[in-house]
Amino acid sequence: MTDSKKDYQKILGSVQKPVLGEAGCTGTWSQLKPIIDLEKCIPAKSGKNACFNCWLYCPEAVVSRTIPPKIDLVYCKGCGICMEECPVDAIKMEVIEEK
Ligand code: SF4
Ligand code: SF4
Repeated sequence: MTDSKKDYQKILGSVQKPVLGEAGCTGTWSQLKPIIDLEKCIPAKSGKNACFNCWLYCPEAVVSRTIPPKIDLVYCKGCGICMEECPVDAIKMEVIEEK
């Protein structure tokens, strides 16, 4: 194995993968919830395994890599990163009404 490959593996080994529920029930932190517009979402529209930026960048690992993508609101903390990373503005953040 080359030195550069070993260095790369060392860096990757230090990155923690997000795990569902690891930080508790993070959905209770949220004041906003993401809504995916399936008319705009690339995999939902095309039926193809494409994009999935929302799945890739979600820090809570609560977005499924499915067609269409689904968001588990029990653990979604409402950070809005998925909205920022969506290339076609298919995600909007809505205010969660007080019960
Ligand atoms: S980032 Fe946007 S277009 Fe891409 S899969 Fe998610 S919702 Fe769909
Ligand atoms: S708002 Fe989006 S990125 Fe943030 S936790 Fe919820 S699904 Fe994940």
